[in-house]
Amino acid sequence: MKRLISITLFLFSTFCLYSWGANGHRIIAQICEWHLNEQTKQEFVELLGNNYMAEIANWPDYIRSERGWKFTDPWHYTTVHMDQTIGDVRERYERDTSINDAIEAIELMEKILKGDEEATAYLENLMEVNRAKPLNGSTKATALAFLVHIVGDIHQPMHVGKNRDLGGNKISVLFFNEETNVHRVWDTNIIEHEKLSYTEFAHFINNKASQGEIAKFQSNTIDEWAMESILLREKIYNTLYDYTDREPGLPSFSWQYQHDFIPHVRKRLFQGGVRLAGLLNEIFK
Ligand SMILES: [Zn+2]
Repeated sequence: MKRLISITLFLFSTFCLYSWGANGHRIIAQICEWHLNEQTKQEFVELLGNNYMAEIANWPDYIRSERGWKFTDPWHYTTVHMDQTIGDVRERYERDTSINDAIEAIELMEKILKGDEEATAYLENLMEVNRAKPLNGSTKATALAFLVHIVGDIHQPMHVGKNRDLGGNKISVLFFNEETNVHRVWDTNIIEHEKLSYTEFAHFINNKASQGEIAKFQSNTIDEWAMESILLREKIYNTLYDYTDREPGLPSFSWQYQHDFIPHVRKRLFQGGVRLAGLLNEIFK
């Protein structure tokens, strides 16, 4: 595990922001940990040792800039145009045997963790061809780290994005007078503006929902998770210029934007956490 941490620290210095920022993924992982059953916790320890889930949640982003892991790039998001459904996206990749997006990647990791030989061979072959070293020397540990991460990503509305602006990366905006872009606002800026540690943040949003609501979130399908992201994404696009106070200026987000959207961010982080727990409890039951 020492090795994992040193690799992680090294890569962190060259890491650009690609998905929920580091704390977004940690918050989801922390909430997930609180909702795991004993059996799943045990499986986690066997695969990833005495680590917090929050410690491995960002590993797939850290390795992403390494040449050997380049092939995992499309696993962090999915592209769904405005007039498309998730069904259309699934159809687009149907005849393609490779893993093309976050939805397919989640399903691949799920299969690997359940012991599916074909899925395991698929990832092992990719790692071998690309000389990418599995986490902890284990394909299952690697799959677990990816699953923890990607379930988070798909809950970030701009990760179920549109091609033309690269999920909001090309839309420059001001956030409290600093230039950024819509993607990064949603990955990082809103979360960091709360000035909470990831554990404080996780504590503040956990257990706000009733058991019934948690069960309902856990019963939704991956396609529904992605659909919710699309609905939120459209709200983000539709209100973009409501926050422009100068003409013709960049959309300028500050307190009002933070106030309007922080409930959505909290909800997505919470849903990501409890759904990930539900999925893992189901896999390891
Ligand atoms: Zn990511």
